[in-house]
Amino acid sequence: MDEKAQASQIQETTHDVAFYKSIINKVSPSFCLAKWYQVTVHLQNGHTHSCHHPATHRVDPRELVENSSALHNTSMKKVQRHKMLNGVRPSECDYCWRIEDANPDNVSDRIFKSSENWAWPNLEEAKSLPWHHDFNPRYVEVSFGHACNFKCLYCAPHISSSIMAEFEKEGHFVESPEFSIKELYINGKYPIPKDSFNPYVEAFWRWWPDLIKNLEHFRITGGEPLINPNTFKFLDFIVNNPMPNLHFAINSNLGIPDVQFNKFISLMQKILETNSIKGFEFYTSVDTHGEDAEYIRTGLNYEDYIKNVRRYLDELPTNTKLIFMCTYNALSVPNFRKFLQEVIDLKSAYRTPAGDPRVLLDMPYLRDPSYLSLAVLTKDFAKQIEEDLEFMKDHTYQRLQNNQWCFTEHEIAKMERVLNWFKSLQDNEKTRLLRKRFYTFTKECDRRRGTSFLKTFPSMEPFYKICEDIYNNDNLDY
Ligand code: SF4
Repeated sequence: MDEKAQASQIQETTHDVAFYKSIINKVSPSFCLAKWYQVTVHLQNGHTHSCHHPATHRVDPRELVENSSALHNTSMKKVQRHKMLNGVRPSECDYCWRIEDANPDNVSDRIFKSSENWAWPNLEEAKSLPWHHDFNPRYVEVSFGHACNFKCLYCAPHISSSIMAEFEKEGHFVESPEFSIKELYINGKYPIPKDSFNPYVEAFWRWWPDLIKNLEHFRITGGEPLINPNTFKFLDFIVNNPMPNLHFAINSNLGIPDVQFNKFISLMQKILETNSIKGFEFYTSVDTHGEDAEYIRTGLNYEDYIKNVRRYLDELPTNTKLIFMCTYNALSVPNFRKFLQEVIDLKSAYRTPAGDPRVLLDMPYLRDPSYLSLAVLTKDFAKQIEEDLEFMKDHTYQRLQNNQWCFTEHEIAKMERVLNWFKSLQDNEKTRLLRKRFYTFTKECDRRRGTSFLKTFPSMEPFYKICEDIYNNDNLDY
């Protein structure tokens, strides 16, 4: 695109945003359609939020007896909608208020989300019906349970049953006291055991016939969705009741037994070949290459993982894509180049009939726990991240007009964002505390899980020694 076309596109986009902002703010300066039409529900403990920025709150099971849509339309959420209609800012949305208060011209997610296709057409309905009305969301993300065969370092026991089992035997990690079993009980986040009656899952399926009347986006997360029978109940439903307007997405660790993977592939083949849904996105998590990735995601066998990635790409129709969700963290750095090369190989090997790559890379960066994020690293690691960024820039389609399909501008921008964030971080007393936590956490992990940090990450030894020295010499509280 030439500069003139780019400028006019930016102008158009700015125009659009200004248009949406003015209409939304006419309803009220705190109005946001995400509170009405988007929901994430964690059925393992009955927590919900709209959108994903506010903290979750627990659905009172008594509300569900009469009204299964209370998985979304909780009394608490209705009060927030009432505030929004009257120009009062719900404090749970402080993520957006901070952005808007920093500069009145800033555009927060309140505007971006409200202008999405799943939200905008419902503006009249949201503002004309009373605040205590029950609304059907158009965008639903659901976790059917916390069963998971992995114990990723940055995950938590109410999201992974394997971590829960470890914590029940060994206790929580002292570096993250908020995930102790006692805290989970206090905060109502302790998951309902797999074989017990779960009123939230029961209410979800009771709600389903009504929910699907308006459903446009449905995303299944976990736990590991592909070992949860409810995922297959949904897929079977679609086989028998096509929903040609539905966009479906699912996250998987792709470390599942063959029997479940075969079943998933075969159902998805049926669904896609009969055009039973409008769109499909498959997300799979991995944060770097080989043994390093296995250390971060305990339970992963990298070789088998890549075999499953290739199986997915070989066996599903060629217009389907696969998106790597790479949560870039401190341990992603040493071996990231090899992972980038893996992505190039896959992008080159698998393309849509139109010639586009079927493999994409998304790269959010880890913030919590901060002792595993880039915030813990010494600044010399910036060089390696910079070199990987350069590598990506040297491998764009424009540069390599051969048979290789490489990185998109969007993917490069994500890596740039990672680097810029790392460079913006201050090295101060708080960082010393993070390094102490990093040391004690990895040491305890190695003890519990039979791993060896230094054998897996030999190039990080100087950094590890710095962390060890802080542990031995500084009197810092956890
Ligand atoms: S105002 Fe912001 S935080 Fe609140 S629901 Fe809307 S997008 Fe989410």
